[in-house]
Amino acid sequence: SIPDGPGVSPARTAALRAEAEALYLGTRPRTRAAAGAAAHLLDGVPMHWMVDWSTPVPLVIAEASGARLIDVDGHAYDDFCLGDTASLFGHGPAPVAEALARQATAGLATMLPSPDAGIVGDLLSARFGLPYWQIATTATDANRFALRAARAATGRPRILIFDGAYHGAVDETFVEIGPDGRVGNRPALIGEPRDLSQLTRVVPFNDLDALEVALADRTVACVIAEPVMTNCAMVLPQPGFHEGLRDITRRHGTLLLIDETHTLSTGPGGYTRTHGLQPDMLVAGKSVAGGVPAAVWGMSEEVAERFRAARTNRPDGHSGMGTTLSGSPLQLAALRATLEHVATEAAYKRMNALADRMEAGLAGVLADARLPWHVARCGARVEVVRAPFPLTDGRQAKGAHYPALEATTHLALLVRGVLISPFHDMMLASPATSEAQVERLIEANRQVIGRLTG
Ligand code: PMP
Repeated sequence: SIPDGPGVSPARTAALRAEAEALYLGTRPRTRAAAGAAAHLLDGVPMHWMVDWSTPVPLVIAEASGARLIDVDGHAYDDFCLGDTASLFGHGPAPVAEALARQATAGLATMLPSPDAGIVGDLLSARFGLPYWQIATTATDANRFALRAARAATGRPRILIFDGAYHGAVDETFVEIGPDGRVGNRPALIGEPRDLSQLTRVVPFNDLDALEVALADRTVACVIAEPVMTNCAMVLPQPGFHEGLRDITRRHGTLLLIDETHTLSTGPGGYTRTHGLQPDMLVAGKSVAGGVPAAVWGMSEEVAERFRAARTNRPDGHSGMGTTLSGSPLQLAALRATLEHVATEAAYKRMNALADRMEAGLAGVLADARLPWHVARCGARVEVVRAPFPLTDGRQAKGAHYPALEATTHLALLVRGVLISPFHDMMLASPATSEAQVERLIEANRQVIGRLTG
């Protein structure tokens, strides 16, 4: 009953789904057995949302290296999901693997800095332009800590997010503008009795007028924003949006936190450096340590000073920030190796060249099939968007989301040896990705779309 999107019949989608499912199950006895054997994991998986992929039983990966995966049945996949950006630079880049091996016998978790610490601070400052940095274990945590620091620094209670944005499992960001225009908790949120809209304001992305109104009473400590919204397909900033965002936040004394976790795909200093943004705070996670659980949050001189003052003028006790494994020697070794040797200008040059071909090839497939869809792009990140024109906000992105069609497409690609990210059509080019893999991606899409459209 879910419509399958413009240009594709539900009957064709259902037929392709049935065929792909039969092929998947019929050729993966070990995968099926693994699902049955994980009896003491909730729903058979280490994180419950892993059952939400397109596969009838979870794909179990025996080995990941470069941009290639091998499942427990020995099937190989060209990996364009790359751990939803965590492995943007390929699985197990050699400098990271070597640093981890070295660090494994020199201390993994000491709750004290290693000699890499100061070097990592220098590398982050040079790369992203902000002078002071902290290390967290996930981008979720980095965002949580940065928001807390912003509130402490400004003495203001509220934050603002853009409708449809995702910044990790940060409780207070799960607020949206409902179909009736009312702001409230996102309906799928589990176990949240609080009305999060009391302290979180929401406006549509690209809507500077709404932003101006929402910040006018000067109770908002911080706007948290991805420079390109990437989790609901891809919503690009319209010309002037970032200039306006910076101008309005400054005028109202609201800090601007740019979350680069996904948009690190743009270039070595993220979208921020490529496009000259001037945030007060910046967060990056996932790929920033080559796939090792680590994230970073940086701040301006002024934020650092105000945050320091807030930390000084308080009684003894917990700050509510930081976790035991954050800033560990393991993380620092991986961060240093990634920043020095992996996320290099040369790597991005290659990633962008591959993404050029992905963008052109996929656009060609859509045009040949006369589908009213388009390809959106953020550096090494490429997205098939099921709408004729670039999306401008989260509501439009929701309208271009067709779960049944997407899951069928993903499974049909998977049985053809191509893995793309779940839940929307995102594909990444890593420095380890080969030209041949890109051609296989395009060809697999051509086949699948051919089956869907006839
Ligand atoms: N920020 C953005 C923009 C993200 O897309 C994500 C995860 N998808 C996060 C933060 C949180 O990252 P993690 O799940 O690793 O904490």
